[in-house]
Amino acid sequence: MAELSNRLDWFSESTIRKMTRIADQYGAINLSQGFPDFDPPKDILNSLKEVAEKGPHQYEITWGSKIFREKLAEKQKKFMRIEINPEENIVVTCGSTEAMMVSMMAVCNPGDKVIVFSPFYENYVADTILSGAEPVYVALKPPSFGFDKEELRRAFEQNPKALILCNPSNPVGKVFTRDELLYIASLAEEFDTFVITDEVYEHIVFPPNEHIYFASLPGMFDRTISCSSLSKTYSITGWRLGYVLGNKKIIDNCKKVHDFLTVGAAAPLQKAVIPGLEFGDDYYEDLINKYDKKRDLFLNGLDKIGLKYFKPEGAYYVLVDISEFGAKDDISFCEYLTRDIGVAAVPGSSFFKEDVNNYIRLHFAKKDETLKEALKRLERLKVSK
Ligand code: GLN
Repeated sequence: MAELSNRLDWFSESTIRKMTRIADQYGAINLSQGFPDFDPPKDILNSLKEVAEKGPHQYEITWGSKIFREKLAEKQKKFMRIEINPEENIVVTCGSTEAMMVSMMAVCNPGDKVIVFSPFYENYVADTILSGAEPVYVALKPPSFGFDKEELRRAFEQNPKALILCNPSNPVGKVFTRDELLYIASLAEEFDTFVITDEVYEHIVFPPNEHIYFASLPGMFDRTISCSSLSKTYSITGWRLGYVLGNKKIIDNCKKVHDFLTVGAAAPLQKAVIPGLEFGDDYYEDLINKYDKKRDLFLNGLDKIGLKYFKPEGAYYVLVDISEFGAKDDISFCEYLTRDIGVAAVPGSSFFKEDVNNYIRLHFAKKDETLKEALKRLERLKVSK
C-alpha cells in the first residue's frame, strides 16, 4: 500500500471519545466525555417536532441559515456587548470542533506557530497540526492554573500566528481573570497575533467568577476569532451546532474553508433551536444555578471519599488527583475505574504537554441520581487507598 499521510503521526486518536466507547463496553457511568444525560429544553424539542413536519430538510445557505444567524447575532450581541452583523461576522459550523478547525485553517500557513496552554482540550493540538502549524506550549500552573507572564512573553517572542484560549477552560474549569486576559491582549497587540477562543462553556461560570469575552476587550475584536457552540448551553451536544464569530475579512476566509469542509450544519436543527436562541435571561440564570448545585453535590461527594481535586470555577469538569492510589499511571487507573468500579473518566495525561500521569478528569453534567450513583461506586476507592 502507498504511504499514508504522515501528518497523523503527530497525534493520536481522541482519548476522550475513546473513553466513551470503553464506558459503553463495560456499561460504566460515563463521566468521561462531557455531555448531559438529561433532556434539552422542552421548547427546543417541541420545535424539533414541528420542523420534522414543516422543514427545512434541504441545504441552507452554506454559512448558516439567515434566521439562525440573525437570532444568534442578537443573543451574542447582548452577552458579548459588541456589534455583530449576521451577514458579515458569523459562520455556522458543525459544532465548535469544526469552528476551531476552520479558524485554524483560515489563518495558519505551513510552519506557523500557535500558542497552546497546557493542560489543553486535546483537539487543539490536532487542529494545529492539521492546519500545517506547530504548537508552542505555555504551562498553566496548578493550583490556580495561572500562567507565568515571562513564559508567555517568550512564547510570543517566537512570533506565533495565533494563541488558542479556552475560557472557561477544559479540563480544569479555570475562568481567566480580566488581568490575565488584558495581559494576553497586550502581547497579541505587540506581536500582531490572532487569538482563537473556545468559549463553549460561556454560560457555565460559577459566581463570583465572571466570563469575559476576549473579543469584547478594548481593541481586540479585529484579532479575535471567537468559537463557540450551542451544545453545552442547550444540552444538545449531538446536534453539532457551532459557530465562528469575527471580523468580516477573517470570516470571509472561514466561510471558504467551511464551505469546502462540510457545506453546512444540519438545516432542520438550525431551525429547531431558534426558541433556545430566543430564551430570556432567566434561562441562563437557571443554567448556572443548575450546574452550581451539581458541582456542589459532586464535589461534596468527592470530599467524603477523600479525593483531592482542583475546584472548577466554570465548565463542568473536575481534575482529580489520584497520586494516593499507587496506580501505575492514569491510563491503567482509568481502565480499572471503568471496568471494576463502573465509572469512566479521562486520563489526565491526554490534556498535558508535560509528563503528568497522576490526574483523571471527571465531569458532572449528569442527572443528580446519576451523579449520586457514580459517587456511591467511587466510594469503593476508599478501601483501596
Ligand atoms: N468537550 C467535550 C469533552 O471535553 C467533548 C466534545 C467532543 O467530544 N466533541 O469531553
